[in-house]
Amino acid sequence: MTTQASHGTALITGASSGIGALYAKRLAARGHDLILVARSRQRLDRLAQCLHEKTGRRVEVLVADLGDRQGLALVEQQLRSRDDVSLLVNNAGIGATTALLDSDVDAMTRMIELNVTALTRLAYAAAPRFVAQGRGAIINIASIVGIAPEILNGVYGATKAFVLALSQSLHHELAGKGVRIQAVVPGAVATEFWTVAGTPVDALPSEIVMQADDLVDAALAGFDQGELFTIPSLPELADWQAYEAARQQLIPNLSRQSVAQRYRRA
Ligand code: NAP
Repeated sequence: MTTQASHGTALITGASSGIGALYAKRLAARGHDLILVARSRQRLDRLAQCLHEKTGRRVEVLVADLGDRQGLALVEQQLRSRDDVSLLVNNAGIGATTALLDSDVDAMTRMIELNVTALTRLAYAAAPRFVAQGRGAIINIASIVGIAPEILNGVYGATKAFVLALSQSLHHELAGKGVRIQAVVPGAVATEFWTVAGTPVDALPSEIVMQADDLVDAALAGFDQGELFTIPSLPELADWQAYEAARQQLIPNLSRQSVAQRYRRA
């Protein structure tokens, strides 16, 4: 038990398992009170009780289906109205391992609703109050397939490319207003994600699979270092910096009055 003052409340989506549950453990140990969001009440209740007993932090459970507008509205309402919430971990997400044209378009649409629409609406619910308070942070869980959509299902990759672009833009607009943004960019992580996506994690070569506690510890180390993008697997930071420098070099020439020479008629 602790008598330590709270470091503010963190709302974590997808906290019933995997990466989200690890964030709950680590953030409670760091002194945050918690609001845990997912659909599985039993799992959330168990985790909440265990974390409260271990750390003495206040841990609330909010059962909501974020793929459903009513469930999502419940969580948005908490983020808009609660002055104590200073950290949003936008983690809930699903993937697929099927090829694009073998995938059911309705399942792809549900994936977009969760990975893109819910994540965006929750950021919109949290950010204005964080700006008004001049403090707060949003951690968005992206994926390496946002950079390399060839690796897995293309719609999944596209949803995570959206998360990367939105995070970049939120950072651009909010960094000067006291609001921190971080996009976490995991490779394969040993969670139930893979079973839900259609391929058990055991089918992957073990050398490309990170344990969820290593991933979350690295992501929090990146957060503490003030990173906007944290890629826990990438050995050389310089490789990411070169990628970003190439992007920056393109920006001044991406919109011009004149057509590039190679597209002009001879
Ligand atoms: P996970 O263990 O399957 O966790 C997913 C979480 O999202 C669960 O808590 C699940 O809880 C929740 N969730 C799913 N659908 C939901 C819905 N409609 N409404 C509310 N909550 C919902 O997988 P994970 O690996 O920890 O995934 C977390 C995030 O990491 C995802 O955004 C995923 O894209 C990303 N990621 C994972 C990997 C990987 O290899 N595992 C790699 C890169 C990125 P309920 O079922 O109880 O609702």
